[in-house]
This record gives sequence, C-alpha cells and structure tokens, in this order.
Amino acid sequence: MSIYKRLGIRTVINGNATLTRLGGSIMPPEVVAAMADASKHFVDIIELQKRVGEEIAKLTQNEAAYVSCGAAAALTLSTAACVAGLDAAKREKLPHLDDSMKSEVIVHRHGRVGYDFAVRQVGITFVEIGNENGTTPDELENAITEKTAAIFYFANPSREHLWVPYEKAIAIAKKHGVPLIVDAAAQLPPPENLWHFTQMGADLALFSGGKGLQGPQSSGLIVGKKSLIEAIAFNGPPHPFIGRGMKVGKEELVGLLAAVEWYLNQDHKEIQQSYEDQVTYYAEIFKDIQGITVHRSFPSEAGQPMPRTEIRFDAEQLSITRDEILQQLQTGDPTIDIAGAGENGVVINGQTLMPGEVEIIANRLKEILGK
Ligand SMILES: *Cc1c(COP(=O)(O)O)cnc(C)c1O
Repeated sequence: MSIYKRLGIRTVINGNATLTRLGGSIMPPEVVAAMADASKHFVDIIELQKRVGEEIAKLTQNEAAYVSCGAAAALTLSTAACVAGLDAAKREKLPHLDDSMKSEVIVHRHGRVGYDFAVRQVGITFVEIGNENGTTPDELENAITEKTAAIFYFANPSREHLWVPYEKAIAIAKKHGVPLIVDAAAQLPPPENLWHFTQMGADLALFSGGKGLQGPQSSGLIVGKKSLIEAIAFNGPPHPFIGRGMKVGKEELVGLLAAVEWYLNQDHKEIQQSYEDQVTYYAEIFKDIQGITVHRSFPSEAGQPMPRTEIRFDAEQLSITRDEILQQLQTGDPTIDIAGAGENGVVINGQTLMPGEVEIIANRLKEILGK
C-alpha cells in the first residue's frame, strides 16, 4: 500500500505546473537512487556542499555553484551575501542593518513576483524603477547609490520588454560595482539558461531544484561568481545565522547534483516534441465536439518556451462554466489539477504529466462535458 493511501491522502494528476503546493516535480529514479545512496553515511556537510558545488559548476559552465533548500532560500542567501559578504560582525547583525551596511535592492516595479519577502527578510528595502511603459537605463543608473546592495531581476521572458535589457543593466551594474542577480527559478527549459544569464555577465543566477530540474522539491541552485558563492556559504547553513533555518541535507545535496546530470542528459528536442504531440492529441480528441475548440498556447505560464494545450468552451452551449469544470476535475476521482485560461478556457501543461495521464484528463473532460 502506498504511503499516501495509508495516510488517506489523494494523489493528484498535475497538468498545471511545477507548483510547490502540488509537490514541485517528480524525481527520476536516478535522483531517488542518489538520495538513497547519500542517506547511508555521515559526511562533513560543509565539505560535501563544496564538492557538489564544484561538480555542478563544471556541468553548468559556471565559475561556482551552491545548493540551497529552494530558490526562495537562494534569494535570501544571495541577498545576505551582498549585504554581509564575508564579514562575521555584519552576518551576526542580519536582519537588522546598521548605517555601515548596504541596505537597498533595486527591482523593476513590473518585474515583481510573489517572492519579495525572501529578499526583504534580510532587512533591505526595495527601490523600484520603471512603469508600465518600460524602464530606461537612466532610471536604473540613477537609482544606484552607495547603499545599493544588489539589483534583482525576476526572469520572465513575457515581461522583459518592460525592463532595462540584461546587457545594458549588466554594463551599468559593473560600472558601479553592484552585483546583478537573476532569479530564474522557473526558467528551465531551456537548459541553456543554466549558463546563459551568467555568461551574459550576471553575477548570480538562481533556479528551483524542484521545478524544471526535477530534483528534490526542497532544493535550489545558485550559479555564478566564486566570491559571491563563498559569501553565500558563509551566510548559509549550517552556520547559525540568517541561513540556519534553510538547511540542506546530504540527500538534497547529492540529489540535486544527480538531477543536474540527469537534466543535461535529456533529449530536450524530444521532450518539446512530446508537448507538441499532446496539443495534437487533444485537438484530435475534441475536433468533432460542438462547443469546444483546442488551441496551442505558447509560451508557458512563466514565459518558458513550451507549448501547452488550451481548451476553450462555449459555456452556454455546454451549460457549464470554467470554474465548474475545474471544480469537478479537482473533486473527482482521480483528482486532476489544471489551470483556468481566460473566462471560458482551461490549459493543460505537459511538463508535469506522467505517462498515461494525458488520456485520463481527456476522458475526464469528456465525461464532465457529457460527451
Ligand atoms: C518558484 C519560484 C521561486 C521559489 O522557488 P522555490 O524553489 O519553491 O523556493 C522563486 N522565484 C520564482 C520566480 C519562482 O518561480
């Protein structure tokens, strides 16, 4: 009997996204095996963190790398590294900053995501730039003061037109000696993003371990400049300061390394094709059904270059609303979680579906729609 049955927990068919509230992603057997292997022995955790970082840096063509307990923790630790560096007295003060410490982080007003707190919890305040018409390089440059600890970009290709382009911002950041950090937590695929931002000149790029990488759910990856990665380790666990509650176990350390290896070995063209095939499949299944149309939706929810299937309904003709459909999928057996799209549509994301689930969703939808 599975542990979830024993606990009375329904498992979910996730056609939504690599959402933390649903468990992130499913680890491939190679990752689970690496974690089991790591679980059998005691090790020096600081030494292991360093070695795993070296290996991931090599694999991702970066100067250095660090495994955190998630991308949100990566945001906190990289902010701490920019504020306290390798200064033990400053590290001990966080999150209460004194006048000798840098205390501002620059962000685009229209580049914000729900993870502000992970940066603010270090004690910094945000300085916002730009508006809905865009942001000029001058606005960025004028926002930089001697208090600026870092510039953060929350990567999302669908919003980039509102921001100072990376190349320009990186040049400005370098001119003023301010680190530029890219939160690319959900920006895999494409796998090249593991080195793209840092090769452009960003000081650090951050990723979730439990999203596209399909590593342990409570893992995250920071890649970039060696000096900053050292400051991250200095502020991070197991040291009893701001990062102590963000500990990373030996299993996660080794599991994320295995996940990066696994991810870079996948045929990403083939994976993309499988998403295209899903759109074609749904189009075929629903093609003769009145009141339903199937569309290829691109890009994915955080701007990633992946197609999803959007299914639009004629609510009047089918006498059912979008929310009633989502509700029935949620409460039926099996439980299916997909996202709504517009007023009368739903969208199915292939990234988190397991073999056979595309068909299960199609059948449930037909059942709900009485077709
Ligand atoms: C998911 C996400 C995070 C948080 O990642 P975790 O690994 O769940 O901590 C941070 N920033 C962005 C942009 C995200 O999409």
